[in-house]
Amino acid sequence: MYLKRIELHGFKSFADKSVVEFMPGITGIVGPNGCGKSNITDAIRWVLGEKSAKAMRGETMTDVIFSGSEDRKAQGEAEVTLVFNNEDHFLDFNSNEIEITRRLYRTGDSEFLLNREQCRLKDITDLIMDTGLGRDSLSIISQNNINEFVKSKPEDRRAMFEEAAGVAKYKKRKIETVRK
Ligand code: ATP
Ligand code: MG
Repeated sequence: MYLKRIELHGFKSFADKSVVEFMPGITGIVGPNGCGKSNITDAIRWVLGEKSAKAMRGETMTDVIFSGSEDRKAQGEAEVTLVFNNEDHFLDFNSNEIEITRRLYRTGDSEFLLNREQCRLKDITDLIMDTGLGRDSLSIISQNNINEFVKSKPEDRRAMFEEAAGVAKYKKRKIETVRK
């Protein structure tokens, strides 16, 4: 499984429909300050269910909608689609390609789509649960996370390693079982 494509439309600085294609392996995104590199990682986080406007570097969630520029008026909605190559069926969904879309209107109404069919946010979180892609996973490491990592106490740092190694979920399950 790998992220194959991101389609953005009206999301942050991406006023027009923009498509970013990825190959398997490592991709670097480079460009001058303010050109929209972090907006791309924000977009990934957003589609995967980010609920915090602050985590999206805004005050309210509608701040992700293109707010206009000198020569362009603001957009009424933001839409981002992530296309995953799922030929290895890593994600438990009977499809070689998975498209996850999030849409947000200025009214605050939002929609999620899975392979172009409307779904609930829960369907998306269930799909990516325990895959390491989730909101609280370390699949996206911000500059802030690095500072936390460097400054953290050894036991907190160990928790981050356990999350990355995929051990955290078993520990959590063990605690739940012992409690029962
Ligand atoms: P750096 O190298 O400094 O980290 P970057 O390439 O990561 O820069 P971003 O933070 O992705 O840059 O993009 C910031 C730009 O996105 C700013 O110019 C900001 O005005 C623009 N931007 C953010 N939200 C919106 C929005 N809702 N509408 C229009 N433009 C926006
Ligand atoms: Mg940045």
